[in-house]
Amino acid sequence: MKMQPTNLRKNSKDALSNSKLQLAMGNMRRDFVDSRGRAIGQMPEYDLLKADAKSRKDHTLANLDHYLEAFSEKCEETGGKVHWAVDGSAACEIILGICKSVNAKKVTKSKSMIGEEIGINKYLEHHGIEPIETDLGEYIIQLADEPPSHITAPAIHKTKEEVAELFYEHHNSYKKTRRLSEIGEMCREAREVMRKKFFEAEIGITGANFLVAETGTSVIATNEGNGDLTQILPRIHIVVASIDKIVPTLEDGLTYLRLLARTASGTEITTYNTFSTGPRQASDLDGPEEFHVVLLDNKRSEMLAGPLREMLRCIRCGACLNHCPVYKSIGGHAYDWVYPGPMGSVLTPSIIGLEVSGSLPEASTFCGRCEAVCPMDIPLPGMMRHLREKAFSDNIVGKRHRFTLKAWNFFLKHPRLYYILLKISTRLIYLLSKRKGYIAFFPGINAWTKSRDLPSSEGKTFMELWMRQNGK
Ligand code: SF4
Repeated sequence: MKMQPTNLRKNSKDALSNSKLQLAMGNMRRDFVDSRGRAIGQMPEYDLLKADAKSRKDHTLANLDHYLEAFSEKCEETGGKVHWAVDGSAACEIILGICKSVNAKKVTKSKSMIGEEIGINKYLEHHGIEPIETDLGEYIIQLADEPPSHITAPAIHKTKEEVAELFYEHHNSYKKTRRLSEIGEMCREAREVMRKKFFEAEIGITGANFLVAETGTSVIATNEGNGDLTQILPRIHIVVASIDKIVPTLEDGLTYLRLLARTASGTEITTYNTFSTGPRQASDLDGPEEFHVVLLDNKRSEMLAGPLREMLRCIRCGACLNHCPVYKSIGGHAYDWVYPGPMGSVLTPSIIGLEVSGSLPEASTFCGRCEAVCPMDIPLPGMMRHLREKAFSDNIVGKRHRFTLKAWNFFLKHPRLYYILLKISTRLIYLLSKRKGYIAFFPGINAWTKSRDLPSSEGKTFMELWMRQNGK
């Protein structure tokens, strides 16, 4: 697990001047937003469903210890084996132990953010085991040796041309004569390359969208069918999931699935919703001989007991990313860890520590769209504000930043002084911009004027204009 400090500021600058990234992000900017809007618009009961989902999750979190034990008992009753992992290293060791028990050399993987969180691919590679990503987006970034940049669309930062180039480079042993240009052709080629690998793997690793306590079932929602092949074909199926994925009943799981598809991709339901309970039984036609579930804590217990508990309601739909003006400008890699966007700005500091990720909660304009579109009603801006305050009180923010905040605090506590200063600077900006209509340089705000001009001022403060308009 990466624990180096995140570098949001530098990464954001790089991202904004990366023309390929900007092109790819430009392609996604409206798609997710429009399709979610349409799907929600066709669901008159959306608000009721959202309130229901929230209260079900709050109940589960309040009784998480009970439901975790219930899941474990049921899973073992049906022939599965449950492993408890306190952190990412423990989870990796458990998975490696299972791989070694059958001398596995190849492992197929269905998309799993928990897999990314614990860094399982690098860990397995280090121990001589080849991990093969089977979700198309994950497969693309595995070829590019990059982390995902979105929690539901991992290769969203890649243009079609970049993917074609990757396939040209890596599918050489296939039947390569030319670079592909059509998305359909690329999908067909990836499917053919992948199909062979599904049959070679001894172990399949999946994440879980939900783990159902009443039946000991793991549920995954996918659109490509790769999850089913990953968990059915190999001899062993390993599920790796965090403890907050527990839901008490199948009905709870179905409630979240209805919300997930609509808010994630704007569809009524994901194409494949697969429920796996235990290993293959005598009457089953297929399925794994062994079924393991690795339950990861990795600071979730601490979150449960702290002020960011509501973050554990997250169902990883990605809507907060898709609607965030900051994420849509800088992409996911700028956040420097597994979870990007508003949810990442809360989750990452909670998992790897605010001292190495203290700048992430700054990646917000506080426009509030993330909270408005979140199907689980998670107060993301409030949480980021809490983390900013904590970064300040724990002395994590830089000296310049601290000075600015202190000065700001001082002026806000002295409104007369603040108003006088505001009047002076408004007049000054007016005088300086009068001739050209804009200011290309102004001391103290050169971070702004370096990349754009400061528009001319009216010469009056908002308050003055408002009072004049209202005859005061
Ligand atoms: S915080 Fe809300 S909107 Fe963001 S991924 Fe989680 S559930 Fe979806």
